[in-house]
Amino acid sequence: MTDTIFHKIIRREIPADIVFEDEHVIAFRDIAPQAPVHVLFVPKVDVATLNDLPASQPEVVGRLAIAAAAYAKREGFADDGYRVVINCNGHGGQTVFQVHLHLLAGAPLGRFGTARDS
Ligand code: 5GP
Repeated sequence: MTDTIFHKIIRREIPADIVFEDEHVIAFRDIAPQAPVHVLFVPKVDVATLNDLPASQPEVVGRLAIAAAAYAKREGFADDGYRVVINCNGHGGQTVFQVHLHLLAGAPLGRFGTARDS
């Protein structure tokens, strides 16, 4: 079985600031926030990268998007807006190999990042 820092958070082996959880998804604040609000939405089933998402299981990522939008509405910034990002592998900047959706919000976020920014 895959074991990442996110699996350890799901199993409560390391602490995290958990903001949402149900039987399929856990969401917690990023340890190094890149915006005033930066929450990670992680499925509880093992999927290392977006490349590994089975075509038969679109709900795994769909649930992350639904949970993120529900969180945005609940926290009151859905109408102001937000950004969701899924990084994949090296060029995408993925560092934790359990698929996850970043929710970034709380201020105007500017243009989408490209390699020219770094
Ligand atoms: P990635 O780069 O894979 O798309 O995103 C991984 C994210 O996980 C990064 O934004 C990073 O700051 C966050 N992260 C890494 N380790 C931890 C941790 O132990 N706790 C929390 N809450 N976030 C983490």
